[in-house]
Amino acid sequence: MQVVNPATGRAVRTVPETSAEETDAAVVRAVAASASWRRVAPGDRARLLRAFAAQVDAHLEELARLEVLNAGHPIGQARWEAGNLRDVLLYYSAAPERLTGLQIPVPGGVDVTFKEPLGTVGVIVPWNFPMPIMGWGLAPALAAGNTVLVKPAEWTPLTALRVAELALEAGLPEDVFQVLPGRGPLTGRRLAEHPGVRKIVFTGSTRVGRELMAACAPGIKRLTLELGGKSANIVFADADLERAAATAPYAVFENAGQDCCARSRILVQASAYERFMELLEPAVEGVVVGDPSAEETEVGPLISAEHRAKVASYVPDGAPVAFRGTAPDGPGFWYPPTVLAATDPRDLPAWHEEVFGPVATVVPFTDEADAVRIANDTAYGLSGSIWTRDLGRALRTARAVEAGNLSVNSHSSVRYWTPFGGFKQSGLGRELGPDALDAFTETKNVFLATEP
Ligand code: NAD
Repeated sequence: MQVVNPATGRAVRTVPETSAEETDAAVVRAVAASASWRRVAPGDRARLLRAFAAQVDAHLEELARLEVLNAGHPIGQARWEAGNLRDVLLYYSAAPERLTGLQIPVPGGVDVTFKEPLGTVGVIVPWNFPMPIMGWGLAPALAAGNTVLVKPAEWTPLTALRVAELALEAGLPEDVFQVLPGRGPLTGRRLAEHPGVRKIVFTGSTRVGRELMAACAPGIKRLTLELGGKSANIVFADADLERAAATAPYAVFENAGQDCCARSRILVQASAYERFMELLEPAVEGVVVGDPSAEETEVGPLISAEHRAKVASYVPDGAPVAFRGTAPDGPGFWYPPTVLAATDPRDLPAWHEEVFGPVATVVPFTDEADAVRIANDTAYGLSGSIWTRDLGRALRTARAVEAGNLSVNSHSSVRYWTPFGGFKQSGLGRELGPDALDAFTETKNVFLATEP
């Protein structure tokens, strides 16, 4: 597989693809390793995870630079991504020593529950946030005593491969964590079908998520799905409009819009619409799109020429473009931040479909009920934002929007302390937060008779 720098269009490295036979052999090794990994004393497993996190921290700049090269992410963002992997490893390093069960009062004996590891877990990762998304599956799975096989996306295998080396250097035993670069329909699919893999954690498109659900069905394989999104940013007229407009571009254009949580539908209360658009225009023009290795860059290129063509197809000639930001000319897969405006967006594909690029659509609404109706008029339900100074309205709207992650007067979605995941076709299950261990363990109930 040829790895291309999206900021220049030039090939930077080739990475061998994992064949079906090599995938099977890796599963066999992972299953064998899980017999001893699950028996590593909790304190020792915790120490190994902390050493792994320290190793990531010691190589943070190297990992960030690798992501700049491979994914075109701005350097500041790439440092955050490597730091997120370190933090998630540290957060779950506290788990092995706290993986407690229950003691349940029953007649005739003692009843206790145990949280047993599943065995071997396959983590299939997309190209948009390679390091963090790998970490959200990897860290809690290892902490719970599972061995892990990571299948990075075709376009972005470099950081995962380096992180696997760092894990070994930190002292993780061989085969506890393996990275298998390869094609989705081959290596990824094989993990879903292989009886030795007990669970799949998949982040990616809803289409592939649906296929994997079917592939996991024969073996009743456990599955966590983090899929697409079409999130709403709802701006009420009483909001701090200056702040709402200044931050709205980053809620959709960050990572060049290649973000499942992108607030690509901006809903503005009609009475504030004109003022909001006046404020939004300079904010969009001010987004710094350019060389990802420059410290001041806020947004880099799209991941590939093919993806840029797909994004551009959402803005055909005659599309209702309100205004655009800038992007470099020349080599690299650049696309400028683009804002569409429509009073009736029904026929606009960019309004209904996940663009996964820097394209947002602004639509007016009349009142709270209208905003909630529009926000929920989608098959997705991942995240969203609500801007208002009325606390009651903020909470009512947050409870009414069918999405897994909402923020009020902010655009935060992912915090590793809190659960993350989607309603409806945005996914199944939750990652991160205190309960993630439940997704990587089976509850076992044991009754001990005490009566003769
Ligand atoms: P994708 O579904 O094409 O690929 C994701 C991963 O699945 C890649 O590693 C790919 O190789 C693999 N894959 C592809 N076909 C497969 C198959 N048939 N069987 C098994 N594995 C297969 O998605 P993408 O284009 O890489 O990523 C973009 C999508 O990911 C967007 O829809 C986005 O919303 C979604 N995403 C969701 C979240 C979330 O947390 N909800 C986060 C990031 C991205």
